[in-house]
Amino acid sequence: MVFNPLYFVFVLPALLLAFYAQWKVKSTYARYTREANMRRLTGLDAANIILRPEGLSHVSIEGVPGELTDHYDPRNKKLGLSTGVARVPSVASLAIVAHEIGHALQDHHGYAPLRFRGAIVPAVQVSAWVAPILFILGWWLNSMNLAWLAVILFGLGAVFALVTLPVEFDASRRGLQLLQTYRLVDGRELKSAKSVLDAAALTYIAALAQTLATLLYYVTLLTGFGRRDD
Ligand SMILES: [Zn+2]
Repeated sequence: MVFNPLYFVFVLPALLLAFYAQWKVKSTYARYTREANMRRLTGLDAANIILRPEGLSHVSIEGVPGELTDHYDPRNKKLGLSTGVARVPSVASLAIVAHEIGHALQDHHGYAPLRFRGAIVPAVQVSAWVAPILFILGWWLNSMNLAWLAVILFGLGAVFALVTLPVEFDASRRGLQLLQTYRLVDGRELKSAKSVLDAAALTYIAALAQTLATLLYYVTLLTGFGRRDD
């Protein structure tokens, strides 16, 4: 069957890592959103200080609902900031805004991994729902070719998760650099900002672990494919 206990052997550790990463990012954010930064700057203040001198005056800022929903959208050059980040003068706000502006800088300077990731997004989205159907169909029709095609499509999701790592690590590196360049933080705050961004990075590592574990699970099923009717 497509769902068997083997699934949990492969995917459970990755799932536990994902839960831990979610808890870590939420608790770290909760801690540093209560810690006011020395200059009493909100995320919006920081964005207004950084954007223009970095050559990003074309980037617009808009409020987005929710918590930790902050993002930069390269398609319409919009910096989406959650209320907690835009309005609270905390260390967490500075870290998150700086990271997102890091993405805007990647976009502006044509950072290759970001461009590559953007290019494969449509294919990844289509394969995310086509691959499971193909796999089940291949399994059902006893067609190895169809099943392997599904695995290749699953692999595209893993490629996406993999290329997300340099994109995210580089955005954090650029973000921490911005906080120093514009003297928005002191030494202690810089360390706190790094903790916030490191916690967020862990969620991307967990996402990669999950896609790799799922891929490995399907490959294992397929390599035992011919023996299922023994
Ligand atoms: Zn990011």
